[in-house]
Amino acid sequence: MGEKRRAIITGSTSGIGLGIARALAATGADITLNGFGDADAIERERSGIETEFGVTCRYSPADMSKPDQIVAMVREAEAALGSVDILVNNAGVQFVSPIEDFPPEKWDQIIAIDLSSAFHAIRTAVPGMKSRKWGRIISTASAHSLVASPFKSAYVSAKHGIAGLTKTVALELATFGVTVNCVSPGYVWTPLVEKQIPATMEARHLTREEVINDVLLEAQPTKQFVTVEQVAALVVFLAGDAAASITGADIPIDGGWTAH
Ligand code: NAD
Repeated sequence: MGEKRRAIITGSTSGIGLGIARALAATGADITLNGFGDADAIERERSGIETEFGVTCRYSPADMSKPDQIVAMVREAEAALGSVDILVNNAGVQFVSPIEDFPPEKWDQIIAIDLSSAFHAIRTAVPGMKSRKWGRIISTASAHSLVASPFKSAYVSAKHGIAGLTKTVALELATFGVTVNCVSPGYVWTPLVEKQIPATMEARHLTREEVINDVLLEAQPTKQFVTVEQVAALVVFLAGDAAASITGADIPIDGGWTAH
């Protein structure tokens, strides 16, 4: 990647975020990990990234549903590493339910973590990026930022919101060397997907195999899950100088799902 970059990846103790963190570390970027999980496992991951890639890797336990903690995470990363050049808004949760039964507190939680956290991280990181005239803001949206599926009202609303936030901020920062994009995976095999299988079984009265083949992979023409490594490679490309003219984009990586 040439110049030394410093990256925050929210929700990077698992799944896609961890894959992105490792891929950015492999380019030589210093990393701030974030997310929940077992403290020993997180520490093993953090120190493993330092050893494997020869970069500095920090961990922030900030809760992405808490604006003050998000602001503190960005400020602490700037103070510890010198800057935040790459911000990856990736933390996300899911809840599956018919709209009339959708718990209002689940709606609020998903909007907070999957949408508002990006707003708070972006507004805090932007002044530094603008002053240095270089920055990359990349959010993990979803195919659900482009199309809907039943029973995912909060998630689909949050992800469509991420696409709108991305376009808006891209326009505001277009002359400052800061690009703002989102990547929109189809189904990637991670704990997030695995966890929604029981609720989808219940909501649609299906078996586990039927949910995997007839609901999840039904939408994906390739009939393959997208891999974490494929999403991470796309984020690394967007974070590089070759992608300087890509801004305001919502890039599907979905095995053809949104071509339907
Ligand atoms: P995951 O469950 O494996 O990881 C989610 C991460 O977010 C974890 O590190 C978790 O600790 C963290 N997190 C959850 N709540 C948090 C909070 N309040 N504060 C801080 N961190 C929190 O899920 P994943 O599949 O890797 O999902 C990552 C992103 O990718 C999400 O935004 C998700 O919507 C998106 N996505 C996933 C898929 C998929 O098929 N897996 C598809 C499209 C988009």
